[in-house]
Amino acid sequence: MPPKADINKAGWEQSEFPILCETCLGNNPFIRMSKQEFGRECGTCARPFTVFRWNPGAGMRFKTTVICQTCAKTRNVCQTCLLDLEYHLPTQVRDTALGVSNEAPTSDINREYYAQNQEIMFAGGENKLNDGRASSAGREMLKQLARTEPYYKRNRPHLCSFYAKGDCKRGSECPYRHEMPVKNELSQQNIQDRFFGRNDPVARKILAGHAETQGVQPPEDESVMSLFLSSLPASATEGTIRARVIKSLPGVEPTSLRSIVHVAKSRCAFVNFKDRASAERAAEAWANGLDMDGERLGVRWGRSKNTPAQAPAPAAAVDDDDTA
Ligand SMILES: [Zn+2]
Ligand SMILES: [Zn+2]
Ligand SMILES: [Zn+2]
Repeated sequence: MPPKADINKAGWEQSEFPILCETCLGNNPFIRMSKQEFGRECGTCARPFTVFRWNPGAGMRFKTTVICQTCAKTRNVCQTCLLDLEYHLPTQVRDTALGVSNEAPTSDINREYYAQNQEIMFAGGENKLNDGRASSAGREMLKQLARTEPYYKRNRPHLCSFYAKGDCKRGSECPYRHEMPVKNELSQQNIQDRFFGRNDPVARKILAGHAETQGVQPPEDESVMSLFLSSLPASATEGTIRARVIKSLPGVEPTSLRSIVHVAKSRCAFVNFKDRASAERAAEAWANGLDMDGERLGVRWGRSKNTPAQAPAPAAAVDDDDTA
């Protein structure tokens, strides 16, 4: 019997089927789900929701939903693994590529308020993630990084901690995996961080690896904190470049931008950051280029001022003196 409408339960969620990615659902076509209404509090908004539990396939561990459907929908993620439903990537990777900000609330009260607002926004079709204006360079990056096949290995039982210590007495009866642990970054992450896409070591690794394949890996000289943009639209000004840069980097504080040096006649600009980390985040976000007024800007790192004497930089039309 479903509970009667109760004013104290406003916003509590009942649902018939969970929102899951293919991997979490598993490869068993005859899947049976157990369902518990208001079974626990959502891991992000703390409101009670309908919890589902199932076995995703032979030899796999039971999986369960950990966040409510409202939260899952607002971030377009799986209720269990919290990866993006379309690209199967951590939200931090997706949001970086699309230049989407998450405006994560910090306190519990704000969290519930945030969830309610998100619910209203979602009902009104204002989901920022479905915003068609997202940069095409960002979408291209996501397509390159997306995991297209389900990854069922992720559903395997957890590692046996007794085995790791050398004294599991359960032998072949042990339901946990008898393998030595490799440092698993995912297991050290909390739900909040994964949901809001912050402090995610897996995302860090994916983004840094992609920057490298795109030829924008950070130079060894840590004093280089500038990125060089080329092929700017003829209409670009320092102001429009600044606006574009800030909008495309929601994870980077605008105050960490030191200056923009626009060289209009060469249609290029230097974006100078105050700290190295911000420059690295920008290079990762722009690994596939940066779109501006229909143009795809080229992006590369500024040059080191400490270029070794034996390898003098060739004279360039643009002097990369980025101390402006
Ligand atoms: Zn929730
Ligand atoms: Zn999942
Ligand atoms: Zn064991």
